[in-house]
Amino acid sequence: MAILVTGGLGYIGSHTAVELMRAGKEIVVLDNLYNCKKSSYSRIKALTGRDFPFYECDIRDRKGLEEIFAKEKIDCVIHFAGLKAVGESVQKPLEYFDNNVNGTLVLLDVMKRCGCKKIVFSSSATVYGVENKSPLTEDMKVGGVTNPYGRTKYMIECILQDLYKSDNEWSICLLRYFNPIGAHKSGTMGEDPNGLPNNLMPYITQVAIGKLDHLNVYGNDYDTPDGTGVRDYIHVVDLALGHVKAVEKAADESGLFIYNLGTGKGYSVLDVVNAFEKASGVKIKYEICPRRAGDLDTCYSDPSKARRELGWQAERGIVEMCEDSWRWQSNNPNGYPD
Ligand code: NAD
Ligand code: UDP
Repeated sequence: MAILVTGGLGYIGSHTAVELMRAGKEIVVLDNLYNCKKSSYSRIKALTGRDFPFYECDIRDRKGLEEIFAKEKIDCVIHFAGLKAVGESVQKPLEYFDNNVNGTLVLLDVMKRCGCKKIVFSSSATVYGVENKSPLTEDMKVGGVTNPYGRTKYMIECILQDLYKSDNEWSICLLRYFNPIGAHKSGTMGEDPNGLPNNLMPYITQVAIGKLDHLNVYGNDYDTPDGTGVRDYIHVVDLALGHVKAVEKAADESGLFIYNLGTGKGYSVLDVVNAFEKASGVKIKYEICPRRAGDLDTCYSDPSKARRELGWQAERGIVEMCEDSWRWQSNNPNGYPD
């Protein structure tokens, strides 16, 4: 039996594909190539020395999904496929609801018809909204989200909870990611954003490589030790390993499980800049700018539930995250080849 990885050629999906195969699992990958390059497929195969089926398919394509389920023996899905740019989601809400929410509905319906009732879903710390105070725990009230992207994650969590209530045979893991950064140690796989990066780490690495002149630090008047925003950065390989544990949990028992995947530690923007300089030996020029609309001062997890129930915890620290991001960026200044 195999695990279907939707969005499996993207940043988190590709690292998870590698760790799943390293753990001896069979995988099938689906991606519509909207936000990744096909060469990510070759890199995963080269790293693991294993072949696996890849389908260029959109999760909204019911017929395409049915064909994959008919052809492959799939008993569990890890569902990464989705659009993820917060700012873009404000400009294009209908595209975000269609791709993320409608796409998930089509996927779930096909799964149900094929008798596949195990799913691990990529949710986000964004569902905790603006009211809850860090450290964030899974039992806090969620939903106070401020943008369409966050709302799609919250809506999909609600859909999956209702699905479980309707049929207790489902096994559903909602994984709330904090801030994934870093890259595979080999330097052959990493984050490859299109255009100007929205997120902090790819922005820093592009300044380091000389593609961008300086980092804009969005605000230094937050209620944090140095005034810049504090986040819970997690190494993407630790995150990937959390998925291996989650699929094992889903295979063992039915239920609706929710886990934070974070380190429990908060670092400010300037902490990350300092750690990156230490890891790379490259000075990062930055300028303090006004706050970015919608940003919180502080957001970090309480990861203890995943440790207790999945036996998982993040092992890699901030300097290692920066070293690995830098290795990827410096080995691949233009990201994945076309
Ligand atoms: P990514 O864009 O690198 O990967 C997503 C992949 O899904 C891409 O390869 C894209 O081509 C594919 N895709 C998008 N829509 C699709 C569709 N309709 N059909 C088939 N494939 C489709 O993003 P990522 O950083 O790897 O994130 C993976 C998941 O984790 C996303 O759902 C994202 O919202 C969630 N997440 C990411 C972060 C983060 O900071 N990276 C944080 C929290 C949650
Ligand atoms: N940030 C920044 N400059 C950038 C990108 C991000 O100062 O070019 C800050 C942002 O304000 C936040 C932190 O870095 O405090 C992490 O932002 P990111 O967009 O990576 O993740 P978020 O937590 O917003 O999802």
